[in-house]
Amino acid sequence: ERIITSTMKDEDFDIENNLRPKSLDEYLGQEKSKEQLRIFIDAALNRNEPLDHVLLYGPPGLGKTTLAGIIASEMGVNLRVTSGPAIERAGDLAAILTNLQENDVLFIDEIHRINRSVEEVLYPAMEDFSLDIIIGKGPSARSIRLDLPKFTLIGATTRAGMLTNPLRDRFGVICKLDYYNVDELSKIVKRSSKILNAEILDDGAIQIARRSRGTPRIANRLLKRVRDYAQVKFDGNITDEVANDALELIGVDSLGLDFVDKKLLQTIIEKFRGGPVGLDTLAASIGEDRNTIEDVYEPYLLQLGFINRAPRGRIAMPLAYEHLGIPYDANSKK
Ligand code: ATP
Repeated sequence: ERIITSTMKDEDFDIENNLRPKSLDEYLGQEKSKEQLRIFIDAALNRNEPLDHVLLYGPPGLGKTTLAGIIASEMGVNLRVTSGPAIERAGDLAAILTNLQENDVLFIDEIHRINRSVEEVLYPAMEDFSLDIIIGKGPSARSIRLDLPKFTLIGATTRAGMLTNPLRDRFGVICKLDYYNVDELSKIVKRSSKILNAEILDDGAIQIARRSRGTPRIANRLLKRVRDYAQVKFDGNITDEVANDALELIGVDSLGLDFVDKKLLQTIIEKFRGGPVGLDTLAASIGEDRNTIEDVYEPYLLQLGFINRAPRGRIAMPLAYEHLGIPYDANSKK
C-alpha cells in the first residue's frame, strides 16, 4: 500500500473532514483561483443571484471538494455532492436537480465520467434552469419543460481535456488548481498540526512539506504518521530530525518519491535504456494500471523534470538519473 498516493484512502476520511478549511481565507495557496472566485462570489451575492457554474480541474488531492464546500458556505447555500459515475441514468440527475433549493451548489466530482444521456439533461439545466422530460412512447410521446430552481453546478475533474466542448462551454468560471509549493504546504501542515494538537517546529513542517508531492492530502497523511512516530519514539515534538527519521522509515524519500516511483524510473532507465517506452509497455512491466500511471504517478514526475512524454513514449531525464545515483551517458542515447 503506497502512502503517497494522491487519491483518497479510507484512513483519510475522518482526518480530512476535520482538517478541511471552511472559508476562502482559511484555504491556503491557489491565489489565482481564490482571487477569481472571490470576485465572482461577491458579485453574485450583490446581485442576489446564484454563482455562475464553476469547473475545477487539477490532479487529485489538491482541494477541489474542499473548494466546492467553501464556495457553498461563502454563498450561504446548501451543498449537494455527487459524482459522474454515481449518476447512472438521466432520471437520477433529474431527481437530484428537482430536489435542489434556490441558489444551491451541486458538486459533481469526476464530471468527465458522466455518460452521454445524463450530459444531455445537464445542458438545458445549466443554461436555462429547466428540464425537458419526454412523456409517453412512440408517436404519442411529447416533451414537457419543467422549471428548476436556479443553482450553481461545480464540476471537478482531473482531466479537463476529457470534457466534451458543449459541456466545457457551459461553465462560466474555470479554475485550474496547481500543485502547492513548499511554503504553502508547510503552512497547511502547521494549520493541521494545530487542529490535531501536535507540536511542530518550522523545520519539521518544511520537511513534511518537501515530501508531500505538492499535494495537501498527502501532507496531512504524512503529518499523521510523523505525529504518531514523534509520540512513540520521542517527546511528541515534531522537529526536522523527527520528521526526517519518520519519513525515511516509511519509505518516502527527500522529494516524496516511494518504491513505485523508483521502480517506474528504474524500469525506463534499466530495461528500456532510458526510453522512449510506450505507456502500455511500461504499465505491463511494472504491473500497474495505465490510467493510474497517467493520472497519479506521472504528473508529479513530469513536474520534477524526471520524465518526459515524447510522441514515441516516456523518456527518463538526466535529473532522474541524478536522483537515483545512476550515471547518465548522453552519447549512448543518440
Ligand atoms: P479528490 O478529487 O481526489 O477528492 P480533491 O482535489 O477534491 O481531491 P480535497 O478532498 O478537497 O481534494 O482535499 C484533500 C484534503 O486536503 C482536504 O481534506 C483538506 O484537509 C486538505 N486541503 C486541500 N486544499 C487545502 C488548502 N488549500 N488549504 C488547506 N488544506 C487543504
